Amino acid sequence: MKSNWISHFRHGDASMKELLGGKGANLAEMTKIGLPVPPGFTITTDACRSYYSLGRLPDSLMDDTRAALQAVELARGLRFGDASAPLLISVRSGSVHSMPGMMDTILNLGLNDETVQGLAAATGDESFAYDCYRRLIHMFGNVVFGIDSAEFETILDKARTGCGASTDQEMTTDSLRDLVEHYKQCVAEKADVPFPQDVYVQLQLAIEAVFRSWNNHRAQVYRKLHHIPDDWGTAANIQSMVFGNYGADSGTGVVFTRHPSTGARELFGEYLTNAQGEDVVAGTRTPQPIARLSEEMPHVYAQLTQAAKQLEHHYCDMQDIEFTVERGKLFILQTRSGKRTAQAAVAIAVSLVKEGLLSPQEALLRTDVAQLEHLLHPSIATDAAVDVVGSGLPASPGAASGHIVLDADEAERLSAAGERVILVRPETTPEDIHGVLAAEGVLTSRGGMTSHAAVVARSMGKPCVSGCDDVRIDLEQKRVYIGERVFSEGDLLSIDGSTGRVIAGAVPLDDADISPEFLQLLDWADRERELRVYVNADTPEDAMKARALGAEGLGLCRTEHMFMAMHRLQIVQDMILAETMEERQKSLAKLLPMQQSDFEGIFKAMDGLTVTIRLLDPPLHEFMPHLEELVVQHTELTAKNTGTPEDRQTLERLIRKVRKLHETNPMLGQRGCRLGILFPEIYEMQVEALFLAARQMLRKGVRVQPDIMVPLVGHAEELSVLRDLIERTAERVLGPDRRNCAYRIGTMIEVPRAALTADKIAEHADFFSFGTNDLTQMTLGYSRDDAEGKFLPYYVDRRLLANNPFQVLDTSGVGQLIELAVKRGLSSNPQLTTGICGEHGGERDSIYFCHETGLDYVSCSTYRIPLARIAAAQAKLLLGSRSNAQHSVSM
Ligand code: ADP
Ligand code: MG
Ligand code: MG
Repeated sequence: MKSNWISHFRHGDASMKELLGGKGANLAEMTKIGLPVPPGFTITTDACRSYYSLGRLPDSLMDDTRAALQAVELARGLRFGDASAPLLISVRSGSVHSMPGMMDTILNLGLNDETVQGLAAATGDESFAYDCYRRLIHMFGNVVFGIDSAEFETILDKARTGCGASTDQEMTTDSLRDLVEHYKQCVAEKADVPFPQDVYVQLQLAIEAVFRSWNNHRAQVYRKLHHIPDDWGTAANIQSMVFGNYGADSGTGVVFTRHPSTGARELFGEYLTNAQGEDVVAGTRTPQPIARLSEEMPHVYAQLTQAAKQLEHHYCDMQDIEFTVERGKLFILQTRSGKRTAQAAVAIAVSLVKEGLLSPQEALLRTDVAQLEHLLHPSIATDAAVDVVGSGLPASPGAASGHIVLDADEAERLSAAGERVILVRPETTPEDIHGVLAAEGVLTSRGGMTSHAAVVARSMGKPCVSGCDDVRIDLEQKRVYIGERVFSEGDLLSIDGSTGRVIAGAVPLDDADISPEFLQLLDWADRERELRVYVNADTPEDAMKARALGAEGLGLCRTEHMFMAMHRLQIVQDMILAETMEERQKSLAKLLPMQQSDFEGIFKAMDGLTVTIRLLDPPLHEFMPHLEELVVQHTELTAKNTGTPEDRQTLERLIRKVRKLHETNPMLGQRGCRLGILFPEIYEMQVEALFLAARQMLRKGVRVQPDIMVPLVGHAEELSVLRDLIERTAERVLGPDRRNCAYRIGTMIEVPRAALTADKIAEHADFFSFGTNDLTQMTLGYSRDDAEGKFLPYYVDRRLLANNPFQVLDTSGVGQLIELAVKRGLSSNPQLTTGICGEHGGERDSIYFCHETGLDYVSCSTYRIPLARIAAAQAKLLLGSRSNAQHSVSM
């Protein structure tokens, strides 16, 4: 007979997850391939959705369920509610996405005061029968009536000690019978209705409760966390019980087909003899490692190994399997793809290819690239005991230990002396950058995921925990209060930037190294992908590290970071303060050799590859001290009447200049190419340093390929003027050497007008690099820091926006501008190369978009390079070759 609401395990299969839920679909699949699955059927997610829209179970559901149950009765030769030999069943939740432990299940349904006697008689084991009955009342009371589990546990504890037993299994038959009476009383009192004796009433209430458990609090939280839609509902699986609580030759357990932390090809798991259902995870008895089963029940162990192998082959993936042994006979109760660490994921995927179960392409497509980043940062050793003292935002992944240092100069000094330090600050400013560079990691009490500390730390691959409210810093006493604890400068502290944990003392770290399996996966990716992968790097060390990770060019070198280094900031400030051109030239002349040596280092590190150097971008005030700080200093100087008159004058001059540089909205103010047009001498110095470095390196046999990038162009004329300046400088500096230096000039596309007039701009550009951070800010009209600090989390939480557009490219909005700019740019300059250099260049979905749009490369931070290589391959495999990527790349 056919029903809209019901599907027997014999009829379904793994492809029907949406209707049957993952658990139901896999139970059907396992039945189909001949594994020992107790018979049963699935009430569909359709029925659950109807239940929610009607506010009750759909009309025919209980009739259909009774009819379906008859088939199970037939298969087992037992009858539900039969007083002499009753069939017992479980009612199990199971949604489309696995949500382990989030929803409810009831076991041993079908027992009442009468059938419990029948079960005892039929099995000749009264203890067993009452053990099942007390379990049913407990679960039913909890799931259906919402009675706190602790109520039952208290009664159980009392009963157990009352009969002198140390575990549930040792309880006497009499005490179990008493226990059941107490449990029934408990239900009657707390629920105001007696425990139902009619087994069909039990069944209906259980189905309703399982449907309701879709909306319990923990399930809701889990769904939000994993972006699972709220309206899918759960299926309810009705299945004949098998009993692991039948005695010493019975048991229950969980097994992974491979080690979920390392991926090693060995069974991993635990079991308990004489136990049922959740006993293994409940922690009341310590389970045995699965290897012990080979000694205790060699026959069952052999069967289990065989079933594990069969399931892995069938699903071509590592499985997480629930099993139960009833009197020496094995039953499989669930299988699903097992959760695993990034390391295990890579090892397993590559191994499955070697075993012939997957193709390299399938292995690539299965890889969760977001998880891969964890592989590259050192992390806290998995088995380490840690003393967590506080927690903040996981702002930059990885873990670090070091001595607490409260200011940047001190951090630099100590690290130069060979000490490992953790920089702890209320928040960081650009002036702290050398401290960040010197520290192993950064902890701040204020600031979000995109605070300066976070952005800088991520770009350097340094762990960072930001916005840690638990932290209070007393700079005068040189103390740090974290929660209840007090630390002094110099004390050891650890941070875990992947989870946001702050830990007292040092912790053992697992070093990141690229495993041979990972290299293999990357090699497969490189054969597929069409996008090139560049790195955003500001130092030769970073560039070198990136090359080792597979960077094929440098897509963004931010020269302002060179300005912020410790001994240079003063010179930069002098340059800004200069009243005359002569004074300014003097400071610039001091900066020139410094920039030159930076560029030389980077050219050398990237020998033979493109190096994209962006001319100065931020507004000048970013290099100056805060106005408030200066005013405070000035007040102190005047009040205490200390310092020389010159000191005071210098300070006053500084204050005047900082006031003058103040802008209402610096993001839209005098920055980027606007700065270069108003102060050409700054760009000229940078370009001169660049060409001097290029010439120097060329003479040493280094193959130099500079791409000079002008930021924030909005109008073709801006680029035209600056192109002129760059070419004149090249001529002046290189002279006849100019021919040997294949430099190119291009621009960042980050202002909407630039995208709209890309054809005009491309007449003066050899390349476009999409600066998607600013482009997103300006297209959406969001200032990133304000948005992320205020309304954006709310928007994402309320699902007004699917994602934070600064993390995942807004393809339907900002993406249109990119598509348009690529098309228009190529129409007037077919030689134009295009790429993306925002943070998005290291994010999977954004990379897919870049592939589709026909960009030549993505550029991302060092540690994201491997994942970008894999995402680029996935893009090609999922979306096919690019149609509009015919424009050749002149390298
Ligand atoms: P969850 O999704 O939380 O794991 P399950 O529906 O899988 O919930 O069931 C909870 C526990 O009960 C599991 O250990 C499972 O193996 C066990 N169980 C479920 N159905 C049966 C059954 N028919 N016979 C024996 N044990 C069962
Ligand atoms: Mg389960
Ligand atoms: Mg920008």
